Formats: sequence, structure tokens, C-alpha cells
Amino acid sequence: MNSIHRVKRISIHQMKYYINEQVLVRGWVHSIRQQKTVHFITLRDGYAMGQLVVIKPRLLAKTLDLPSQSAIEAYGIVVENSQAAGGYEIQLEALKIHSQAQELPIEISKKEVQVHQDTFLDHAALMLRRPEHRFVHRVAALIRSLFRQFMEAEGCVEINSPKLSSASVEGGADVFTLDYFGSQASLVQSPQLYKQIMVGVFERVYEIGPVFRAEQHNTSRHLNEYISMDAEFGFIESTDELMEIVSRLLQFLIKRSYELIDEWPEKFSIEWPQIPQKIPVMSYDEALRVSGAEDELNPQSEKKLGEWALGEFHSDAVFIYGYPLKKRPFYTAENSDKEGVSLSFDLLFRGQEIVTGGMRKHSYEEYKDQPVPQGYKEAFQAGMPSHGGFGLGLERLVQSLFGFSNIRQAALFPRDGRRLSP
Ligand code: ATP
Ligand code: MG
Repeated sequence: MNSIHRVKRISIHQMKYYINEQVLVRGWVHSIRQQKTVHFITLRDGYAMGQLVVIKPRLLAKTLDLPSQSAIEAYGIVVENSQAAGGYEIQLEALKIHSQAQELPIEISKKEVQVHQDTFLDHAALMLRRPEHRFVHRVAALIRSLFRQFMEAEGCVEINSPKLSSASVEGGADVFTLDYFGSQASLVQSPQLYKQIMVGVFERVYEIGPVFRAEQHNTSRHLNEYISMDAEFGFIESTDELMEIVSRLLQFLIKRSYELIDEWPEKFSIEWPQIPQKIPVMSYDEALRVSGAEDELNPQSEKKLGEWALGEFHSDAVFIYGYPLKKRPFYTAENSDKEGVSLSFDLLFRGQEIVTGGMRKHSYEEYKDQPVPQGYKEAFQAGMPSHGGFGLGLERLVQSLFGFSNIRQAALFPRDGRRLSP
């Protein structure tokens, strides 16, 4: 077994580069097919799956009762085999079993595993091992990484603001409170206050992190904890500038994901989004008219607007700007030409809101009487430029990209009214 450690460890998807060479692979037994004189193991590593062939009697004895999901490392020679998935296999010469799997409540190696969503989520630790599910979270990871790349290129500095706070910022009822050494604390609903303070420090900042919303209702688009991708820019003057940045961001995320993901599991019949060079923009009033909504845009109207943008402009995305000020949080700036109208916007993607952004108030006068901590107000006392930013919900974007009917399918370990584990 010692010899194993002198051999090059490769990932399964690299097999094609090592024909007739000795390699070491590590992973999990996805499934095992046993015949009298030969065993075929489908090995799954963090990225791909490939075949191991066991012929040597000593090794056949070792793999005879090897349960699927056991963690192993295997050493052998890569050979071409047109019958094997991917066209290559490894002829096993030595095997180390890291741990043998127990009997599991769900068989996850079958080609199709159809389970109720609750069963899936109860057994997420197992179900996430299935290639198509982990693929979703690889795409989510890619989107996070692309978001970072984009923001860095814009000159933004990454921050991690606290999630525990004495203040609730976004207002409304959906704030979680908890005991903090005898006094009340809350979980932040967004990094808004901190982003603004940090604009006074770095001018441009971004953050990718969890936020918490005690949404009472159980919907297909709300989680109680989700990943917010946020950015805030100092010395910008208009929602047009912000929408231009969000536009380029969305183009970049969609285009680069398309270029970087070489294979989509056949399980997902993805239609790649159409994002034109110029994303259509409409005012809140036009949006009410087009969607036939009375006085408020709701999920049904967002869906109609999504269909409209696709029909009229071949676009999966559409901006709506000029929301009524009273529908926005206190820090939102007002349009000085239109009383009661905010300088803010939403971006709908495939008929669902994924981004809210806007210009913020920036004079100390506008903050000094707000019920927010003094430490926040100091940023404004000390002089703040005109600024604005936005938040993009990661799970919402992934949900819409894959066309999932429920946001829980796009969350790693979703938190909702009934679920706090695993
Ligand atoms: P909605 O109107 O859909 O409830 P919102 O307007 O309350 O969302 P914002 O405060 O604008 O949400 O949050 C910015 C972004 O964060 C949203 O556009 C969305 O992508 C995401 N988001 C908001 N709430 C949730 C949630 N409960 N679960 C998942 N993502 C969310
Ligand atoms: Mg919003």
C-alpha cells in the first residue's frame, strides 16, 4: 500500500491524459456491479465519475461486500475501453478503504431517484452526493466566484459585515430576534448599513454572505436565510449608472457561466437565457399598465412582465424603475423631480425579482432622526458622497437559471418556516 503514495493522484475527469500510466484516484463507490470473476466499480470523486475494474482475486475478495458510498482510494493503470462511461477505465492494482458505508436510509446510486421534497431535504447529506444535485451547487459556486471577479474588476473591496446586530434596518416584521447575553439582538436582513459605512471608507465595496428574513409565508421564492450578493458604490449619481453596472454584471454572469460549464447533466433541459446588449427598462407606472396590476406589482405581475419582455424584446431580463418611495426602506433616495417616487429599481429575471437596487440618501440631515444606531449616523456626519448599490439573491438567480419551480431546489440547506435542519 505504501507504493500508492508515490503515484500521481489524478481526478477522474483527467483519466484521458494518463493512458497506460499508473495513477491514484480517490473518491466514493457510487455503485458496484459484481460478476464472478470481475467487479466494476463506478467511482465518484468531487467532480466526475469513472470506472474501476477489479480482476485480481485478492482485490475481488476486498471489494466483494463493499457497499456503495464507501470512501476509498484506488491505484491502477488507465486503459481505454469504449464500453466504459467516458471511454476509459482503471484496472485496479491496490485499494485502500477509508471507511465502509453503513446501510443507508436512501439508495442514492440509482439512475433515477424520485423522492418527495421533504424526504430529499431530510436526507440532503446523501442526496447532495448525486451528480445532478451537486452540479446545481457547483454552478452556484461558479456564480459567486464570477460575482467576485466582476466586483474586483470594478474596483470594489470585499467586506464581511456582522450578521448579529442591535438594529433592524430594512424595517417591517420579518426580523429574527434572539437573546444576546440578556439583551435583544437581531439577525441582519441585509448588509445595507455596513455597506454604506464602508463606502465612506473604500468608496466601492461588495459582500457575499447570508442574510435572514423572518418571512412568515411559505412561498416558492422565499427562504428564511439566503445568500445575498451585495455591492455599493460611492460617487455615483443616478439609477441609470447603477442599472448599467447591474446590466453588465448579469451579462457577465450568464456569458461566463455558459463558457465555463462544459457539460450540463441531461437531467436539466436548460434553455440558456437571452440577455440582449441593452436590457429593456420600464417605469413602475408602465409596468403596472403592461401587467394589468391595480396599484402594486405582485408575483403574478412580475411573471406577466417577464413574458412581455421576452415577447417584445427577446429578453429574459427587464428593469423596472421608479417604485413608490413608501414601498422602499428609509435609506432610499427620492426623485427630486417626482415627489413620492424613489430612485430605485428591480431587475426581473424570467419573471421573478432577483435584484433590488437604488440610490441612497446621503446627507446627515436625512439620517439624524432615524431610529438607527449612532455609529451608523457618524458615517454621514463625516461626509458621504452620493451613492447607491444593489442586492442580488443567489438562490433566486440559480432557481431561475435552472427553471426550478421552488427556490429550495437551489439552496444547499434551505431554512424555512418548518425546517432548521440538517
Ligand atoms: P420579494 O419582493 O421577492 O419578497 P424583496 O423585495 O423583499 O423580495 P429585497 O429586500 O429587495 O427583497 O432583497 C433583494 C434581493 O434578495 C431580492 O431581489 C431577491 O433576489 C433576494 N431575496 C429577498 N428576499 C428573499 C428571500 N426571502 N429568500 C430568497 N431570496 C430573497
Ligand atoms: Mg426587492
